[in-house]
Amino acid sequence: MSDTQECDVLIVGSGFAGIHQLINLRKLGLTVKILESGGDLGGTWYHNTYPGCRVDSINPVYQFSDPELWRDWTWSERYPGWKELQEYFQYVDRKVGIKQDVLFNSRVVSAVWDDSVDRWMLTTDDGRVFRAQFLSLCTGIGSKHYVPDFKGLDTFKGQVHHTAKWSADCDLQGKKVGVIGTGATGVQLIQEIAPIVEHLTVFQRTPNYALPMRQQKINPEEDEKLKNDLYPVIFARRHQTFSGMYYDIDMKPTMSATPEERIIYYEDKWEKGGFHFWVGSYADLFFNQEANDEAYAFWRKKVRERIPDHPELQEKLAPMNPPHPFGVKRPCLEQRYFEVYTRPNVTLRWDPSTLRCLVLATGYDMVTGGITSIDIRGQDGVSIKEKWDEGVRTYLGLASATYPNMFWIYGPQSPCSFSNGPSTIELTSDWIIKCIRYMKDNRISSIVPTEEAQKAYSEQVDILGAAALWSKAQTSWYMASNVPGKKPQMLQFSGGVPAYAKLCNDSAENGYAGFDVKRFSA
Ligand code: NAP
Repeated sequence: MSDTQECDVLIVGSGFAGIHQLINLRKLGLTVKILESGGDLGGTWYHNTYPGCRVDSINPVYQFSDPELWRDWTWSERYPGWKELQEYFQYVDRKVGIKQDVLFNSRVVSAVWDDSVDRWMLTTDDGRVFRAQFLSLCTGIGSKHYVPDFKGLDTFKGQVHHTAKWSADCDLQGKKVGVIGTGATGVQLIQEIAPIVEHLTVFQRTPNYALPMRQQKINPEEDEKLKNDLYPVIFARRHQTFSGMYYDIDMKPTMSATPEERIIYYEDKWEKGGFHFWVGSYADLFFNQEANDEAYAFWRKKVRERIPDHPELQEKLAPMNPPHPFGVKRPCLEQRYFEVYTRPNVTLRWDPSTLRCLVLATGYDMVTGGITSIDIRGQDGVSIKEKWDEGVRTYLGLASATYPNMFWIYGPQSPCSFSNGPSTIELTSDWIIKCIRYMKDNRISSIVPTEEAQKAYSEQVDILGAAALWSKAQTSWYMASNVPGKKPQMLQFSGGVPAYAKLCNDSAENGYAGFDVKRFSA
Protein backbone atom coordinates (compact mmCIF):
# COMPACT_ATOMS: atom_id res chain seq x y z
CA MET A 1 0.00 0.00 0.00
CA SER A 2 2.91 2.37 0.74
CA ASP A 3 3.87 2.32 -2.97
CA THR A 4 0.43 3.50 -3.97
CA GLN A 5 0.51 6.96 -5.52
CA GLU A 6 -2.35 9.17 -4.36
CA CYS A 7 -4.02 12.16 -5.98
CA ASP A 8 -7.45 13.74 -6.26
CA VAL A 9 -8.11 12.94 -9.90
CA LEU A 10 -6.63 10.35 -12.23
CA ILE A 11 -7.10 11.00 -15.92
CA VAL A 12 -6.55 8.27 -18.49
CA GLY A 13 -5.31 9.65 -21.81
CA SER A 14 -3.49 12.82 -22.83
CA GLY A 15 -5.32 13.89 -25.96
CA PHE A 16 -7.56 16.96 -26.17
CA ALA A 17 -9.89 15.68 -23.42
CA GLY A 18 -7.21 14.65 -20.92
CA ILE A 19 -5.30 17.88 -21.35
CA HIS A 20 -8.43 20.02 -20.98
CA GLN A 21 -9.26 18.16 -17.78
CA LEU A 22 -5.75 18.55 -16.39
CA ILE A 23 -5.45 22.27 -17.08
CA ASN A 24 -8.83 23.08 -15.58
CA LEU A 25 -8.92 20.67 -12.64
CA ARG A 26 -5.61 22.09 -11.51
CA LYS A 27 -7.33 25.47 -11.31
CA LEU A 28 -9.59 24.01 -8.58
CA GLY A 29 -6.47 23.34 -6.52
CA LEU A 30 -6.73 19.58 -7.00
CA THR A 31 -3.82 17.20 -7.48
CA VAL A 32 -4.18 15.61 -10.88
CA LYS A 33 -2.19 13.06 -12.86
CA ILE A 34 -2.60 11.70 -16.36
CA LEU A 35 -1.81 8.07 -17.11
CA GLU A 36 -0.98 7.71 -20.79
CA SER A 37 -0.21 4.52 -22.71
CA GLY A 38 1.74 6.40 -25.40
CA GLY A 39 5.17 7.95 -25.24
CA ASP A 40 4.04 11.55 -25.69
CA LEU A 41 1.03 13.88 -25.73
CA GLY A 42 -1.71 13.95 -28.34
CA GLY A 43 -3.86 10.84 -27.91
CA THR A 44 -5.12 9.88 -31.35
CA TRP A 45 -2.56 12.26 -32.91
CA TYR A 46 0.28 10.53 -31.12
CA HIS A 47 -0.81 7.06 -32.22
CA ASN A 48 -2.06 7.74 -35.76
CA THR A 49 0.84 8.58 -38.04
CA TYR A 50 0.00 6.61 -41.19
CA PRO A 51 0.69 8.40 -44.48
CA GLY A 52 -1.91 11.06 -45.26
CA CYS A 53 -3.34 11.12 -41.73
CA ARG A 54 -4.95 14.48 -41.03
CA VAL A 55 -7.95 15.91 -39.21
CA ASP A 56 -11.24 16.39 -40.99
CA SER A 57 -12.66 19.15 -38.79
CA ILE A 58 -11.88 22.59 -40.13
CA ASN A 59 -9.79 25.05 -38.17
CA PRO A 60 -10.20 27.28 -36.24
CA VAL A 61 -12.82 24.97 -34.67
CA TYR A 62 -10.44 22.05 -34.08
CA GLN A 63 -8.38 23.38 -31.18
CA PHE A 64 -8.68 24.54 -27.57
CA SER A 65 -10.87 27.62 -27.24
CA ASP A 66 -8.75 29.14 -24.45
CA PRO A 67 -7.26 32.40 -25.85
CA GLU A 68 -4.04 31.65 -24.00
CA LEU A 69 -3.69 28.68 -26.31
CA TRP A 70 -4.83 30.12 -29.65
CA ARG A 71 -3.46 33.65 -29.45
CA ASP A 72 0.12 32.69 -30.36
CA TRP A 73 -0.56 29.62 -32.46
CA THR A 74 -1.14 29.70 -36.23
CA TRP A 75 -2.00 26.61 -38.25
CA SER A 76 -0.46 26.24 -41.67
CA GLU A 77 -3.57 24.61 -43.17
CA ARG A 78 -7.29 24.53 -42.40
CA TYR A 79 -7.08 20.72 -42.04
CA PRO A 80 -3.66 20.07 -40.48
CA GLY A 81 -1.86 16.75 -40.70
CA TRP A 82 -0.70 14.59 -37.81
CA LYS A 83 2.79 16.15 -37.61
CA GLU A 84 1.44 19.64 -37.15
CA LEU A 85 -1.12 18.36 -34.63
CA GLN A 86 1.71 16.74 -32.67
CA GLU A 87 3.60 20.07 -32.76
CA TYR A 88 0.46 21.79 -31.45
CA PHE A 89 0.39 19.52 -28.39
CA GLN A 90 4.08 20.29 -27.75
CA TYR A 91 3.25 24.00 -28.01
CA VAL A 92 0.38 23.58 -25.51
CA ASP A 93 2.83 21.91 -23.15
CA ARG A 94 5.34 24.78 -23.51
CA LYS A 95 2.55 27.29 -22.89
CA VAL A 96 0.91 25.81 -19.81
CA GLY A 97 3.07 22.89 -18.68
CA ILE A 98 1.39 19.53 -19.13
CA LYS A 99 4.07 16.88 -19.14
CA GLN A 100 5.15 17.24 -15.52
CA ASP A 101 1.81 15.68 -14.59
CA VAL A 102 1.75 12.92 -17.20
CA LEU A 103 3.07 9.42 -16.69
CA PHE A 104 3.84 8.19 -20.20
CA ASN A 105 4.05 4.54 -21.26
CA SER A 106 1.57 3.78 -18.50
CA ARG A 107 -1.31 1.66 -19.76
CA VAL A 108 -4.11 1.35 -17.23
CA VAL A 109 -5.31 -2.25 -17.07
CA SER A 110 -7.74 -2.11 -14.19
CA ALA A 111 -9.74 0.34 -12.11
CA VAL A 112 -11.56 -0.85 -9.00
CA TRP A 113 -13.88 1.23 -6.85
CA ASP A 114 -13.72 0.98 -3.06
CA ASP A 115 -17.06 2.06 -1.63
CA SER A 116 -15.74 2.14 1.94
CA VAL A 117 -13.36 5.02 1.24
CA ASP A 118 -14.82 6.42 -1.99
CA ARG A 119 -11.67 5.91 -3.97
CA TRP A 120 -10.64 4.38 -7.30
CA MET A 121 -7.65 2.08 -7.33
CA LEU A 122 -5.91 1.91 -10.71
CA THR A 123 -3.23 -0.54 -11.82
CA THR A 124 -0.96 -0.13 -14.83
CA ASP A 125 0.43 -2.90 -17.03
CA ASP A 126 3.76 -2.75 -15.19
CA GLY A 127 2.08 -3.21 -11.81
CA ARG A 128 2.11 0.35 -10.43
CA VAL A 129 -0.88 1.28 -8.30
CA PHE A 130 -2.62 4.66 -8.09
CA ARG A 131 -5.49 5.84 -5.94
CA ALA A 132 -7.80 8.79 -6.45
CA GLN A 133 -11.24 10.05 -5.56
CA PHE A 134 -12.14 10.72 -9.20
CA LEU A 135 -11.50 8.84 -12.42
CA SER A 136 -11.71 10.69 -15.72
CA LEU A 137 -11.58 8.45 -18.78
CA CYS A 138 -10.26 10.41 -21.74
CA THR A 139 -9.51 7.39 -23.87
CA GLY A 140 -11.04 8.65 -27.12
CA ILE A 141 -13.31 6.76 -29.48
CA GLY A 142 -10.68 5.05 -31.59
CA SER A 143 -8.00 3.82 -29.23
CA LYS A 144 -8.51 0.07 -29.67
CA HIS A 145 -7.76 -0.98 -33.23
CA TYR A 146 -9.64 -3.78 -34.94
CA VAL A 147 -8.16 -6.60 -36.99
CA PRO A 148 -10.81 -8.77 -38.65
CA ASP A 149 -10.38 -12.50 -38.51
CA PHE A 150 -9.05 -12.82 -42.09
CA LYS A 151 -8.40 -16.41 -43.11
CA GLY A 152 -4.74 -16.83 -44.08
CA LEU A 153 -3.57 -13.53 -42.60
CA ASP A 154 -1.22 -15.40 -40.26
CA THR A 155 0.45 -17.20 -43.18
CA PHE A 156 0.76 -14.15 -45.45
CA LYS A 157 4.39 -13.99 -46.53
CA GLY A 158 4.73 -10.21 -46.81
CA GLN A 159 4.56 -7.48 -44.18
CA VAL A 160 1.27 -6.64 -42.47
CA HIS A 161 0.63 -3.26 -40.86
CA HIS A 162 -2.45 -1.84 -39.19
CA THR A 163 -2.77 1.91 -39.74
CA ALA A 164 -3.18 2.42 -35.98
CA LYS A 165 0.26 0.91 -35.34
CA TRP A 166 2.32 2.82 -37.89
CA SER A 167 6.03 3.17 -37.36
CA ALA A 168 9.06 4.38 -39.27
CA ASP A 169 9.62 0.79 -40.50
CA CYS A 170 6.42 0.83 -42.50
CA ASP A 171 8.07 2.06 -45.70
CA LEU A 172 5.79 1.50 -48.68
CA GLN A 173 7.94 3.22 -51.31
CA GLY A 174 8.22 1.11 -54.49
CA LYS A 175 6.36 -1.87 -53.02
CA LYS A 176 3.36 -3.86 -54.18
CA VAL A 177 0.89 -2.89 -51.50
CA GLY A 178 -2.63 -3.95 -50.68
CA VAL A 179 -4.98 -1.87 -48.55
CA ILE A 180 -8.04 -3.42 -46.93
CA GLY A 181 -10.65 -0.91 -45.93
CA THR A 182 -11.94 2.31 -47.39
CA GLY A 183 -13.14 4.12 -44.28
CA ALA A 184 -11.80 7.58 -43.39
CA THR A 185 -8.40 6.05 -42.72
CA GLY A 186 -8.25 4.00 -45.91
CA VAL A 187 -9.26 6.98 -48.06
CA GLN A 188 -6.53 9.20 -46.61
CA LEU A 189 -3.90 6.50 -46.91
CA ILE A 190 -4.84 5.38 -50.44
CA GLN A 191 -4.73 8.87 -51.95
CA GLU A 192 -1.39 9.52 -50.28
CA ILE A 193 0.50 6.32 -51.14
CA ALA A 194 -0.77 5.70 -54.69
CA PRO A 195 1.98 7.86 -56.24
CA ILE A 196 4.83 6.23 -54.31
CA VAL A 197 4.09 2.52 -54.41
CA GLU A 198 4.85 0.25 -57.35
CA HIS A 199 1.33 -1.10 -57.32
CA LEU A 200 -1.62 -0.48 -55.06
CA THR A 201 -4.49 -2.91 -54.71
CA VAL A 202 -7.50 -1.66 -52.81
CA PHE A 203 -9.87 -4.17 -51.27
CA GLN A 204 -13.12 -2.28 -50.94
CA ARG A 205 -16.14 -3.88 -49.33
CA THR A 206 -18.35 -0.80 -49.28
CA PRO A 207 -17.71 2.44 -51.19
CA ASN A 208 -17.05 5.51 -49.08
CA TYR A 209 -19.29 8.51 -49.73
CA ALA A 210 -16.28 10.77 -49.32
CA LEU A 211 -16.70 14.53 -49.62
CA PRO A 212 -14.24 17.08 -51.03
CA MET A 213 -12.03 18.50 -48.30
CA ARG A 214 -11.00 21.68 -50.15
CA GLN A 215 -7.85 22.10 -48.15
CA GLN A 216 -6.57 25.69 -47.84
CA LYS A 217 -3.24 27.12 -46.79
CA ILE A 218 -3.60 29.66 -43.99
CA ASN A 219 -2.24 33.13 -44.49
CA PRO A 220 -0.90 34.26 -41.06
CA GLU A 221 -1.95 37.91 -41.58
CA GLU A 222 -5.48 36.91 -42.51
CA ASP A 223 -5.57 34.53 -39.58
CA GLU A 224 -4.48 37.32 -37.24
CA LYS A 225 -7.43 39.37 -38.41
CA LEU A 226 -9.72 36.38 -37.94
CA LYS A 227 -8.39 35.95 -34.42
CA ASN A 228 -9.14 39.57 -33.56
CA ASP A 229 -12.52 39.73 -35.23
CA LEU A 230 -14.06 36.31 -35.01
CA TYR A 231 -12.30 33.59 -32.99
CA PRO A 232 -14.33 34.12 -29.78
CA VAL A 233 -17.53 34.21 -31.80
CA ILE A 234 -16.61 30.98 -33.61
CA PHE A 235 -15.80 29.22 -30.34
CA ALA A 236 -19.08 30.30 -28.79
CA ARG A 237 -20.93 29.23 -31.92
CA ARG A 238 -19.50 25.70 -31.63
CA HIS A 239 -21.96 24.96 -28.83
CA GLN A 240 -24.96 26.26 -30.74
CA THR A 241 -24.84 24.00 -33.78
CA PHE A 242 -25.83 20.35 -34.23
CA SER A 243 -22.29 19.21 -34.99
CA GLY A 244 -20.24 21.68 -32.97
CA MET A 245 -19.02 23.40 -36.15
CA TYR A 246 -19.57 27.06 -36.96
CA TYR A 247 -22.22 26.08 -39.54
CA ASP A 248 -25.43 24.18 -38.87
CA ILE A 249 -27.95 21.72 -40.26
CA ASP A 250 -30.89 23.25 -42.08
CA MET A 251 -34.39 22.30 -40.91
CA LYS A 252 -35.96 23.25 -44.23
CA PRO A 253 -37.23 20.01 -45.83
CA THR A 254 -35.29 18.96 -48.91
CA MET A 255 -38.39 18.41 -51.01
CA SER A 256 -39.88 21.80 -50.13
CA ALA A 257 -37.24 23.41 -52.32
CA THR A 258 -37.77 23.54 -56.07
CA PRO A 259 -35.42 21.24 -58.01
CA GLU A 260 -33.52 24.31 -59.23
CA GLU A 261 -33.27 25.81 -55.75
CA ARG A 262 -32.05 22.47 -54.43
CA ILE A 263 -29.32 22.10 -57.05
CA ILE A 264 -28.04 25.62 -56.40
CA TYR A 265 -28.15 24.91 -52.67
CA TYR A 266 -26.24 21.62 -53.02
CA GLU A 267 -23.68 23.27 -55.33
CA ASP A 268 -23.04 25.90 -52.69
CA LYS A 269 -22.46 23.27 -49.98
CA TRP A 270 -20.27 21.24 -52.32
CA GLU A 271 -18.09 24.22 -53.17
CA LYS A 272 -17.67 25.09 -49.51
CA GLY A 273 -16.30 21.58 -49.04
CA GLY A 274 -15.71 19.75 -45.76
CA PHE A 275 -18.82 18.52 -44.03
CA HIS A 276 -21.07 21.32 -45.35
CA PHE A 277 -22.83 18.84 -47.64
CA TRP A 278 -23.48 16.53 -44.64
CA VAL A 279 -24.06 18.40 -41.37
CA GLY A 280 -24.41 21.83 -42.98
CA SER A 281 -27.24 20.82 -45.29
CA TYR A 282 -30.91 19.76 -45.20
CA ALA A 283 -31.30 17.84 -41.92
CA ASP A 284 -33.99 15.53 -43.24
CA LEU A 285 -31.39 13.59 -45.21
CA PHE A 286 -30.84 11.74 -41.93
CA PHE A 287 -34.42 10.51 -41.55
CA ASN A 288 -36.28 10.91 -44.84
CA GLN A 289 -35.37 8.39 -47.55
CA GLU A 290 -36.64 10.59 -50.39
CA ALA A 291 -34.53 13.51 -49.16
CA ASN A 292 -31.58 11.19 -48.72
CA ASP A 293 -31.95 9.89 -52.29
CA GLU A 294 -31.66 13.47 -53.57
CA ALA A 295 -28.43 14.04 -51.65
CA TYR A 296 -27.02 10.71 -52.81
CA ALA A 297 -27.90 11.40 -56.46
CA PHE A 298 -26.07 14.72 -56.30
CA TRP A 299 -23.03 13.14 -54.60
CA ARG A 300 -22.97 10.30 -57.15
CA LYS A 301 -23.12 12.71 -60.10
CA LYS A 302 -20.23 14.77 -58.69
CA VAL A 303 -18.06 11.70 -58.15
CA ARG A 304 -18.82 10.19 -61.53
CA GLU A 305 -17.91 13.46 -63.26
CA ARG A 306 -14.40 13.10 -61.86
CA ILE A 307 -13.79 9.69 -63.45
CA PRO A 308 -15.71 10.18 -66.73
CA ASP A 309 -14.05 7.55 -68.89
CA HIS A 310 -14.22 4.72 -66.38
CA PRO A 311 -17.76 3.31 -66.21
CA GLU A 312 -16.65 0.28 -64.20
CA LEU A 313 -14.94 2.43 -61.59
CA GLN A 314 -17.94 4.76 -61.51
CA GLU A 315 -20.15 1.83 -60.62
CA LYS A 316 -17.81 0.51 -57.94
CA LEU A 317 -17.08 3.85 -56.31
CA ALA A 318 -20.45 5.59 -56.76
CA PRO A 319 -23.00 2.88 -57.58
CA MET A 320 -26.35 3.63 -59.21
CA ASN A 321 -28.03 1.75 -56.34
CA PRO A 322 -26.57 3.05 -53.09
CA PRO A 323 -25.55 0.27 -50.68
CA HIS A 324 -26.82 2.41 -47.82
CA PRO A 325 -28.31 5.89 -47.46
CA PHE A 326 -26.02 8.90 -47.76
CA GLY A 327 -24.36 10.05 -44.54
CA VAL A 328 -25.54 7.25 -42.25
CA LYS A 329 -22.04 5.82 -42.15
CA ARG A 330 -19.57 8.50 -41.31
CA PRO A 331 -18.42 10.19 -44.53
CA CYS A 332 -14.86 11.42 -44.70
CA LEU A 333 -13.01 14.15 -46.52
CA GLU A 334 -10.90 13.37 -49.55
CA GLN A 335 -8.43 15.39 -51.61
CA ARG A 336 -7.78 13.38 -54.77
CA TYR A 337 -9.25 10.03 -53.82
CA PHE A 338 -11.46 9.13 -56.76
CA GLU A 339 -8.94 10.09 -59.45
CA VAL A 340 -6.36 7.81 -57.78
CA TYR A 341 -8.17 4.78 -59.17
CA THR A 342 -7.53 5.91 -62.75
CA ARG A 343 -3.76 5.60 -62.24
CA PRO A 344 -2.17 2.64 -64.06
CA ASN A 345 -0.62 1.37 -60.81
CA VAL A 346 -3.87 1.25 -58.84
CA THR A 347 -6.46 -1.53 -58.94
CA LEU A 348 -9.68 -2.02 -57.08
CA ARG A 349 -9.21 -5.72 -56.21
CA TRP A 350 -6.37 -7.58 -57.86
CA ASP A 351 -4.42 -10.75 -57.25
CA PRO A 352 -3.50 -10.71 -53.54
CA SER A 353 -0.81 -13.39 -53.99
CA THR A 354 1.57 -10.86 -55.59
CA LEU A 355 1.40 -8.46 -52.66
CA ARG A 356 4.50 -7.71 -50.62
CA CYS A 357 2.81 -5.61 -48.03
CA LEU A 358 -0.71 -5.50 -46.66
CA VAL A 359 -2.11 -2.53 -44.82
CA LEU A 360 -5.18 -3.02 -42.68
CA ALA A 361 -7.28 0.13 -42.59
CA THR A 362 -10.01 -1.87 -40.92
CA GLY A 363 -10.82 0.55 -38.16
CA TYR A 364 -11.40 0.26 -34.43
CA ASP A 365 -13.59 -1.13 -31.72
CA MET A 366 -15.04 2.35 -31.89
CA VAL A 367 -16.57 4.43 -29.10
CA THR A 368 -16.57 1.77 -26.37
CA GLY A 369 -13.22 -0.05 -26.93
CA GLY A 370 -11.05 2.45 -25.06
CA ILE A 371 -13.17 2.08 -21.92
CA THR A 372 -14.01 -1.62 -22.08
CA SER A 373 -10.38 -2.60 -22.58
CA ILE A 374 -9.78 -1.48 -18.99
CA ASP A 375 -11.14 -3.89 -16.35
CA ILE A 376 -13.35 -1.34 -14.59
CA ARG A 377 -15.31 -2.58 -11.59
CA GLY A 378 -17.72 -0.44 -9.63
CA GLN A 379 -19.98 -0.83 -6.59
CA ASP A 380 -21.28 -4.29 -7.50
CA GLY A 381 -17.90 -5.63 -8.64
CA VAL A 382 -19.15 -6.27 -12.18
CA SER A 383 -16.91 -5.06 -15.01
CA ILE A 384 -18.21 -2.37 -17.32
CA LYS A 385 -17.34 -4.57 -20.29
CA GLU A 386 -19.58 -7.33 -18.99
CA LYS A 387 -22.41 -4.84 -18.47
CA TRP A 388 -21.96 -3.22 -21.87
CA ASP A 389 -21.81 -6.57 -23.65
CA GLU A 390 -25.57 -6.58 -22.97
CA GLY A 391 -25.87 -3.09 -24.44
CA VAL A 392 -24.30 0.23 -23.51
CA ARG A 393 -26.20 2.09 -20.82
CA THR A 394 -25.08 5.48 -19.54
CA TYR A 395 -26.40 8.63 -17.99
CA LEU A 396 -25.79 11.76 -20.03
CA GLY A 397 -23.16 9.95 -22.08
CA LEU A 398 -20.56 10.70 -19.42
CA ALA A 399 -21.21 8.43 -16.44
CA SER A 400 -22.70 5.07 -15.60
CA ALA A 401 -24.75 3.65 -12.69
CA THR A 402 -22.70 1.68 -10.12
CA TYR A 403 -19.44 3.43 -11.16
CA PRO A 404 -19.27 6.43 -8.77
CA ASN A 405 -17.00 9.42 -9.37
CA MET A 406 -16.16 8.07 -12.81
CA PHE A 407 -16.72 10.20 -15.89
CA TRP A 408 -15.69 9.93 -19.48
CA ILE A 409 -15.40 12.49 -22.24
CA TYR A 410 -16.27 12.05 -25.91
CA GLY A 411 -17.42 8.48 -25.42
CA PRO A 412 -20.53 6.26 -25.47
CA GLN A 413 -23.90 8.03 -25.77
CA SER A 414 -22.35 11.48 -26.06
CA PRO A 415 -22.53 13.32 -29.40
CA CYS A 416 -18.88 12.33 -29.98
CA SER A 417 -18.28 11.77 -33.65
CA PHE A 418 -21.48 13.52 -34.71
CA SER A 419 -19.64 16.58 -33.53
CA ASN A 420 -16.33 18.35 -33.86
CA GLY A 421 -14.12 16.74 -31.20
CA PRO A 422 -12.97 19.74 -29.18
CA SER A 423 -16.53 21.20 -29.11
CA THR A 424 -18.05 18.23 -27.27
CA ILE A 425 -14.85 17.61 -25.32
CA GLU A 426 -14.77 21.12 -23.82
CA LEU A 427 -18.49 21.07 -23.10
CA THR A 428 -18.32 17.74 -21.24
CA SER A 429 -15.03 18.51 -19.55
CA ASP A 430 -16.41 21.83 -18.23
CA TRP A 431 -19.48 19.99 -16.94
CA ILE A 432 -17.31 17.48 -15.03
CA ILE A 433 -15.15 20.24 -13.56
CA LYS A 434 -18.25 22.12 -12.42
CA CYS A 435 -19.64 18.92 -10.92
CA ILE A 436 -16.46 18.24 -8.94
CA ARG A 437 -16.41 21.84 -7.71
CA TYR A 438 -20.05 21.47 -6.61
CA MET A 439 -19.15 18.27 -4.75
CA LYS A 440 -16.26 19.98 -2.97
CA ASP A 441 -18.41 23.00 -2.05
CA ASN A 442 -21.18 20.77 -0.73
CA ARG A 443 -19.04 18.19 1.07
CA ILE A 444 -20.12 15.40 -1.27
CA SER A 445 -17.74 12.48 -1.41
CA SER A 446 -19.30 10.48 -4.22
CA ILE A 447 -21.80 10.86 -7.00
CA VAL A 448 -23.28 8.12 -9.15
CA PRO A 449 -26.11 8.00 -11.70
CA THR A 450 -29.32 6.31 -10.57
CA GLU A 451 -30.46 3.26 -12.54
CA GLU A 452 -33.73 5.07 -13.35
CA ALA A 453 -32.01 8.15 -14.78
CA GLN A 454 -29.65 5.95 -16.76
CA LYS A 455 -32.54 3.91 -18.17
CA ALA A 456 -34.44 7.02 -19.21
CA TYR A 457 -31.40 8.67 -20.83
CA SER A 458 -30.34 5.51 -22.67
CA GLU A 459 -33.88 5.01 -23.98
CA GLN A 460 -33.78 8.56 -25.27
CA VAL A 461 -30.54 7.80 -27.13
CA ASP A 462 -32.14 4.66 -28.61
CA ILE A 463 -35.29 6.51 -29.66
CA LEU A 464 -33.31 9.30 -31.32
CA GLY A 465 -31.18 6.70 -33.08
CA ALA A 466 -34.20 4.74 -34.29
CA ALA A 467 -35.84 7.85 -35.71
CA ALA A 468 -33.18 8.19 -38.41
CA LEU A 469 -31.75 6.02 -41.16
CA TRP A 470 -28.57 4.94 -39.33
CA SER A 471 -29.47 1.27 -39.09
CA LYS A 472 -29.77 0.97 -42.88
CA ALA A 473 -26.00 0.63 -43.15
CA GLN A 474 -24.98 -2.99 -42.83
CA THR A 475 -21.66 -2.44 -41.12
CA SER A 476 -21.23 0.84 -39.31
CA TRP A 477 -19.35 1.72 -36.19
CA TYR A 478 -22.08 4.27 -35.42
CA MET A 479 -24.33 1.24 -34.85
CA ALA A 480 -21.64 -0.97 -33.24
CA SER A 481 -22.00 -3.31 -36.22
CA ASN A 482 -18.41 -3.00 -37.53
CA VAL A 483 -16.97 -5.44 -34.99
CA PRO A 484 -18.51 -8.93 -34.67
CA GLY A 485 -19.93 -9.67 -31.22
CA LYS A 486 -20.86 -6.11 -30.28
CA LYS A 487 -24.53 -5.56 -29.57
CA PRO A 488 -25.95 -3.46 -32.43
CA GLN A 489 -27.19 -0.14 -31.08
CA MET A 490 -26.73 3.55 -31.75
CA LEU A 491 -23.61 4.32 -29.72
CA GLN A 492 -23.83 8.10 -29.84
CA PHE A 493 -26.29 10.80 -28.83
CA SER A 494 -27.68 11.82 -32.21
CA GLY A 495 -29.75 14.82 -31.12
CA GLY A 496 -27.01 17.39 -31.65
CA VAL A 497 -24.68 19.35 -29.40
CA PRO A 498 -27.18 21.99 -28.12
CA ALA A 499 -29.77 19.34 -27.12
CA TYR A 500 -27.04 17.35 -25.39
CA ALA A 501 -25.72 20.41 -23.58
CA LYS A 502 -29.24 21.22 -22.38
CA LEU A 503 -29.73 17.76 -20.86
CA CYS A 504 -26.39 17.98 -19.05
CA ASN A 505 -26.99 21.52 -17.85
CA ASP A 506 -30.55 20.77 -16.72
CA SER A 507 -29.22 18.02 -14.47
CA ALA A 508 -26.52 20.29 -13.02
CA GLU A 509 -28.88 23.19 -12.46
CA ASN A 510 -31.24 20.89 -10.58
CA GLY A 511 -28.63 19.80 -8.06
CA TYR A 512 -27.30 17.03 -10.32
CA ALA A 513 -30.67 15.44 -10.90
CA GLY A 514 -30.38 11.80 -11.86
CA PHE A 515 -27.41 11.22 -9.54
CA ASP A 516 -27.27 9.80 -6.03
CA VAL A 517 -24.84 11.62 -3.79
CA LYS A 518 -23.05 10.59 -0.62
CA ARG A 519 -21.94 13.29 1.79
CA PHE A 520 -18.89 13.28 4.04
CA SER A 521 -19.89 12.51 7.60
CA ALA A 522 -19.59 15.60 9.80
P1 NAP B 1 -13.92 2.40 -40.40
O1 NAP B 1 -14.66 3.60 -40.75
O2 NAP B 1 -14.54 1.44 -39.47
O3 NAP B 1 -13.53 1.67 -41.76
C1 NAP B 1 -13.03 0.36 -41.76
C2 NAP B 1 -12.92 -0.13 -43.18
O4 NAP B 1 -12.47 -1.47 -43.15
C3 NAP B 1 -14.25 -0.13 -43.92
O5 NAP B 1 -14.05 0.20 -45.26
C4 NAP B 1 -14.71 -1.58 -43.75
O6 NAP B 1 -15.58 -1.99 -44.77
C5 NAP B 1 -13.39 -2.29 -43.86
N1 NAP B 1 -13.47 -3.60 -43.22
C6 NAP B 1 -13.61 -3.86 -41.90
N2 NAP B 1 -13.69 -5.18 -41.70
C7 NAP B 1 -13.60 -5.75 -42.91
C8 NAP B 1 -13.64 -7.10 -43.37
N3 NAP B 1 -13.78 -8.12 -42.50
N4 NAP B 1 -13.52 -7.32 -44.70
C9 NAP B 1 -13.37 -6.30 -45.57
N5 NAP B 1 -13.35 -5.00 -45.20
C10 NAP B 1 -13.47 -4.74 -43.89
O7 NAP B 1 -12.49 2.75 -39.76
P2 NAP B 1 -11.54 4.01 -40.07
O8 NAP B 1 -11.45 4.27 -41.52
O9 NAP B 1 -10.28 3.76 -39.33
O10 NAP B 1 -12.29 5.22 -39.44
C11 NAP B 1 -12.90 5.14 -38.16
C12 NAP B 1 -13.26 6.51 -37.70
O11 NAP B 1 -12.09 7.14 -37.20
C13 NAP B 1 -13.77 7.45 -38.77
O12 NAP B 1 -15.09 7.25 -39.11
C14 NAP B 1 -13.51 8.77 -38.11
O13 NAP B 1 -14.46 9.06 -37.14
C15 NAP B 1 -12.18 8.52 -37.43
N6 NAP B 1 -11.11 8.97 -38.34
C16 NAP B 1 -10.98 10.30 -38.49
C17 NAP B 1 -10.03 10.78 -39.33
C18 NAP B 1 -9.92 12.25 -39.49
O14 NAP B 1 -10.29 13.03 -38.67
N7 NAP B 1 -9.40 12.70 -40.54
C19 NAP B 1 -9.20 9.94 -40.03
C20 NAP B 1 -9.35 8.58 -39.85
C21 NAP B 1 -10.32 8.10 -38.99
P3 NAP B 1 -17.18 -1.76 -44.63
O15 NAP B 1 -17.38 -0.29 -44.85
O16 NAP B 1 -17.78 -2.60 -45.67
O17 NAP B 1 -17.57 -2.17 -43.24
